[in-house]
Amino acid sequence: MTRKNTLPYRLRLPGPTAVPERVQKAIAGPVLNHRGPEFTDIVKATVSLAQPILGTENDVMFFASSGTGMMEAALANALGEGERALVLSYGAFGERFSSIAKALGIETEQLAAPWGETVSASQLEEKLRENNFQAVVVVHNESSTGAVSDLEALGKVVGNTDAILIVDSVSGLGGVEMRQDDWGVDILVSASQKALMCPPGLGLASISDKAWDRVEQEAGKKRYYWDFRKARDSAAKDQTAFTTPVTLMCGLNEALTMMHEEGLDNVLRRHEQLSDTFRAGGHALGLSDFARAATKSNTVAVFSMPEGVDGNAVVAHMYEHFNTVIAGARNWLSGKVIRIGTMGHISQTDIETDLKYLASTMQYLSASAKNG
Ligand code: PLP
Repeated sequence: MTRKNTLPYRLRLPGPTAVPERVQKAIAGPVLNHRGPEFTDIVKATVSLAQPILGTENDVMFFASSGTGMMEAALANALGEGERALVLSYGAFGERFSSIAKALGIETEQLAAPWGETVSASQLEEKLRENNFQAVVVVHNESSTGAVSDLEALGKVVGNTDAILIVDSVSGLGGVEMRQDDWGVDILVSASQKALMCPPGLGLASISDKAWDRVEQEAGKKRYYWDFRKARDSAAKDQTAFTTPVTLMCGLNEALTMMHEEGLDNVLRRHEQLSDTFRAGGHALGLSDFARAATKSNTVAVFSMPEGVDGNAVVAHMYEHFNTVIAGARNWLSGKVIRIGTMGHISQTDIETDLKYLASTMQYLSASAKNG
């Protein structure tokens, strides 16, 4: 792709997302001793700032990691070789969870729904009635399709069993409501580079008492760097087990401070309003939501392409002509959908600019399609 414009660079992916200037400045500060008081104070404060966003009173533990590392950490700590996980699967990240579980030697079964839909609580209940699993694994906000799982309902079902509920909210947390404790989410993992407005590189995990009982069990588990028990011991000293990406942590502290200044309800409402506006604008351009799930994502818009228009051409045109980086798909939906982040540090102006560029792109590509 060659850029044919001099417009400012606009990162409009469903992650990583644009980082606010305040966060950039916090990251640009001096590198601190990760075991020293200046930094442990920041870790302690960041935990307190994160807890209400996760909706938890659990400790929040941090790792140098992308989201996938945190998915692996959750599974490696919860399940030993030969134990059984039920993965609710209706998109690329659900499939990734299954692949990781298999790589760890965990016995994995999928409860699948068509991409764009989700698995209902009654489907899960029926499955758990007939089968015994040690963990149910689900993606909260499936960024490949734009569908959001009903965690509250799923949590109630899992809560009536001995299984634990493992949730990836990598692309949801901070933009889609999360109430870990109320909903019975036992292991919640996420990452810094999406609605949390930071660069990539910092992962987080929060673990319920029910899940700690499983984490403590040693049999068949292969973990060292990811061992949540080491992380817990260090978190008690406001540290991480291994060298912390200290500058990113300073950035996360600033980003979470900004979210609290705005007000957490206001942050969620802004995401909802902006994503509604963006999706309505997309519909007016002849695009349709790929997701058919009852709850559509407030953090990523996934649009199906109209007849004759290649989604990858839309991605290329947006970059080449408007210096605006959006995503296509890296799976069987390649060319069929486009994906745009509606999360993090964004405003009405960003959405209007996106729609203006998208309108021009769609007009150009639809005309080209018609003219053969
Ligand atoms: N889970 C979800 C829902 C995601 O959207 C992503 C990334 O897009 C990941 C996991 C993987 O995160 P990472 O790319 O940081 O490893």
